[in-house]
Amino acid sequence: MLRQYELVERVLGYDPDADQALLNRAYVYTVQKHGSQQRASGDPYFSHPVEVAGLMTDLKLDQETIITALLHDTVEDTLATIEDIEANFGPEIARLVDGVTKLSKIEQMAENERAAENLRKFLLAMSEDIRVLLVKLADRLHNMRTLHFIKSPAKRQRIARETMDIYAPLAERVGMYEYMREMQLLAFEQLEPEAFATLGRRLEELRSKDGGQVDAIALKIKQALAESGLMVEVSGREKHPYSIWKKMAERHVNFEQVTDIMAFRVICENEADCYHALGVLHTTWQFLPGKFKDYISTPKVNGYRSLHTSLMYENSMRVEVQIRTREMHQRNEFGLAAHWAYKQDDRPDGQVGWLRDLIEIVDASHDAEEMLEHTRLAIYQDRIFAFTPKGALFQLPKGATAVDFAFAVHTDLGALTVGAKINGRHMPLRTPLQNGDVVEIIKSKNAEPQLSWLGFVVTGKARAAIRRALRMKEREEVAGIGRMLFDGIAARVPAKIGKKAIREALKRLEMEEEDDLMFAIGSARISDREVMEALVPGSTAEIEESADWARREKTISIRGLTPGVGFKLAECCHPVPGDRIVGLRKQGEGVEVHAIDCFHLAQGEDADWLDLNWGNRSQGAVGRLRVTLYDRPGTLAEIAGLFARNLANVKTLSHTQDDPPFSSYDIDLEVQDLAHLTRILSALRASDAVAQAERI
Ligand code: MN
Repeated sequence: MLRQYELVERVLGYDPDADQALLNRAYVYTVQKHGSQQRASGDPYFSHPVEVAGLMTDLKLDQETIITALLHDTVEDTLATIEDIEANFGPEIARLVDGVTKLSKIEQMAENERAAENLRKFLLAMSEDIRVLLVKLADRLHNMRTLHFIKSPAKRQRIARETMDIYAPLAERVGMYEYMREMQLLAFEQLEPEAFATLGRRLEELRSKDGGQVDAIALKIKQALAESGLMVEVSGREKHPYSIWKKMAERHVNFEQVTDIMAFRVICENEADCYHALGVLHTTWQFLPGKFKDYISTPKVNGYRSLHTSLMYENSMRVEVQIRTREMHQRNEFGLAAHWAYKQDDRPDGQVGWLRDLIEIVDASHDAEEMLEHTRLAIYQDRIFAFTPKGALFQLPKGATAVDFAFAVHTDLGALTVGAKINGRHMPLRTPLQNGDVVEIIKSKNAEPQLSWLGFVVTGKARAAIRRALRMKEREEVAGIGRMLFDGIAARVPAKIGKKAIREALKRLEMEEEDDLMFAIGSARISDREVMEALVPGSTAEIEESADWARREKTISIRGLTPGVGFKLAECCHPVPGDRIVGLRKQGEGVEVHAIDCFHLAQGEDADWLDLNWGNRSQGAVGRLRVTLYDRPGTLAEIAGLFARNLANVKTLSHTQDDPPFSSYDIDLEVQDLAHLTRILSALRASDAVAQAERI
């Protein structure tokens, strides 16, 4: 373990202005707070934060980060509080420690995909400062290094799995390849002990058989380049067992078939030398077309720069070569952290820039193939993250709109939505949100969810809430119609109907509230006779006969016509009894009966107008409806059943429009009168199968 003075000296080594007293105080603080706590290894607990701080000094990070590393487990695992840390070390360090503490909480959440998802969410929300993430990664690396001390195999597995699925990809995303490789290797050893042992053995065999091939090849490369006047450093290594194993798994090959087991790194003086060296290597050995990548002129999103190529060494062995300058190398191995260490002084945009860098890297989608292929973080590709104006973060599926966002924030907010500002600009509600959008929902007290929203929302929550609201609204309308019809029904029973009679009727019908009854009447789920029976039992016996007669009757009578004059109901407007009507007398054709608001009348046809009324018990008129159904199996059957229950005959039915997820039909329906038609309309609107129903 690093001693106190060693740690302080390391920091002073690269930052002579560091606050020595503060560093010392942090060291003492963590030792005191962790007290006699022990690690699984039997070491005092504080050795862990000290080692993590040591890892941070390797990256030459600022004193705030070093102190955060020292304190990172105190709030989580000791009696220390954030307030206490703020009092002792100031607000900046308190904020950083708080960030790491919050990141640590996710580990205890769920051991499944959600954990990964939540981590990302937290990451974005917390990593307003990249240093929080760096401390977290170092924390995990040290825990992996000491993983073998943990006795429970299940716990070791869980930690290793989490490292493989979340932290290694995260390290890769921010360009910390050294961390990534070491994490992968340690996790691999834990997760696939047999494969790890076998590959280790095979590599060992290879080493003894070829007797230091790696060094020999490195020397040859160095010589070839020296002959062209290039002074370079060449280092070679075998790929580590995990990357070999991954190749075997991805390409479905066995160990012998994995050819590029050796990789070499050429460090040049400057950029021009890199390209020069590349040319020399390509003319000395056969290179593999398609393997060459120029990340110097086109760096990866995380800033990685290098030339990559693969050579056929002595016609049989494939070797990988990476060519780069020393500066690129530093940056490549430690990614943003290196950038942080070297560029501390010229950051005019401060931490905002870091956030932007980080989000860009983590969200990089244009480099998806490269970076996401083998990482579980790919699961975030179908998610987007959007903020409220106050900065609260919401996670939504890709394609989610401002309406989805509003419902995600709160159901009540969704219901009152009338508009949205996305990144400060008014945008249509159907606009799909982009990662990082700031969404401000504009609401109005009188607003209500719109049917058309169902055409673009993608979240179940929004969909369910909109449906529920529409159903409620329809229910109110239907109950309103029921209330009107009820007065007519009540007038037909031989008793005065007051509140008490209604209460009694509800009991008999096993209904809770008056509204339930009105809804049942309005939606024709209950017949007039059933209502009358409930109000005054026995009251329908005497009218039974006439009711049956009325149902059989299928004639139309119109008052206002000269007896004997023929008439027909116009097919443009399909008037039904109850509509206000007029007649057009046409030469030699009799009288055409139109609804008063028919557009044909407005066109002023050359005919006499007759003021007409419906006769008593006019029946068999045809009303035309346009019904928009949800386009799924069974919806049409459902409304056919509804017509049958309501004693209405379907005369014609035509499919007029497909507008997924809807499908529209024009339906000619034989009904008794306007009230009958209105009740059927209400019943249609109350049906789950129906999105919209109207008379045309
Ligand atoms: Mn820790």
